[in-house]
Amino acid sequence: MKIGAALGFNLIDYPGKIAAVAFAPGCNYTCPHCHAKPILGTAAPINEDDFLKYLITVKDWVNGVVICGGEPTLQPGLVPFIKKLRAECFSVKLDTNGSNPQVLAQLLSDKLVDYVAMDIKGPKFLWPSLSGNAGAETAMMESIATVARFPDYEYRTTVAPVVRGDEDISFLTVPEMVSAARLIAKVTGRADHKYYVQKFVPRKNGLLDPRLEVFPETPPQLLQDIHEEVLNYLPNCQLRG
Ligand code: SF4
Repeated sequence: MKIGAALGFNLIDYPGKIAAVAFAPGCNYTCPHCHAKPILGTAAPINEDDFLKYLITVKDWVNGVVICGGEPTLQPGLVPFIKKLRAECFSVKLDTNGSNPQVLAQLLSDKLVDYVAMDIKGPKFLWPSLSGNAGAETAMMESIATVARFPDYEYRTTVAPVVRGDEDISFLTVPEMVSAARLIAKVTGRADHKYYVQKFVPRKNGLLDPRLEVFPETPPQLLQDIHEEVLNYLPNCQLRG
């Protein structure tokens, strides 16, 4: 698998695990608020064998591997890479934008991934502008349903500014986030999912759409209001800093 960047260990990205992180370069979305894609596009690649050798040297205390991106499911080498991790008894978490339900289904049926985190970009009617991809609805709906069948999983949404028009950019609203939460419950037929509402963090000279760089972090009051309303539809919703 192509690895664009890596972290040796991390206590945050994989709940309950000490996990190394592999960032897969390349993504089929162009979310305006993305800061990962520009970095991964220019980073020097890391050799997969070197990463695996490192993992074997630390396997006494690193017990998980997070594969994120970019979008890892685009890579033909993903499944073989995870099989190598499994052979060394690592737990595996995959972060995905949900654009590739076929790969998720394979990972599920082959029991290759323990934890999936799927980005829900916002309400369905805004997915084209939030993801930069006008044809992703069917795949994302299928992925929402598939993700709920993994041993552990979460959905998450970054409350980012939305480009609604050339002169109209504003944060996702409470009703829009309620719409996203209701869709998750409707597609899966359940409401007991982990759902994280995350704040947008601006980065100077580092977002795919530079117009978003002038925005502040998501206002705390907006996050609180969203949390309060979304709890009515997904009772396990939590705010994530
Ligand atoms: S899905 Fe969006 S935020 Fe995630 S890496 Fe791709 S462009 Fe960036």
